[in-house]
Amino acid sequence: MKCCKKAKQAAVTLTHIAQGYSRLVRVKKYEFTDDRIRVCRKCDQNYWIGRALFCSICKCFVPAKARVEGAKCPLGKWENED
Ligand code: SF4
Repeated sequence: MKCCKKAKQAAVTLTHIAQGYSRLVRVKKYEFTDDRIRVCRKCDQNYWIGRALFCSICKCFVPAKARVEGAKCPLGKWENED
């Protein structure tokens, strides 16, 4: 059972990654995207590689993750999370 739960979570995570990068490439934003990025830019858990913003906890590329409705900040810092 525990294995199924992990597999299901991994599938959800992969789907989110695909959605995020797809929307990033298409320059598709939602009303919450800029707010999320603003929170991440001020967060003490962020890090930068050049001009690219990442989260040190989930290791996500923030501009992609911020475009996924169901994505969550691991610390619950984003507002209006699903
Ligand atoms: S996703 Fe959450 S923990 Fe990660 S950088 Fe953004 S605000 Fe910080």
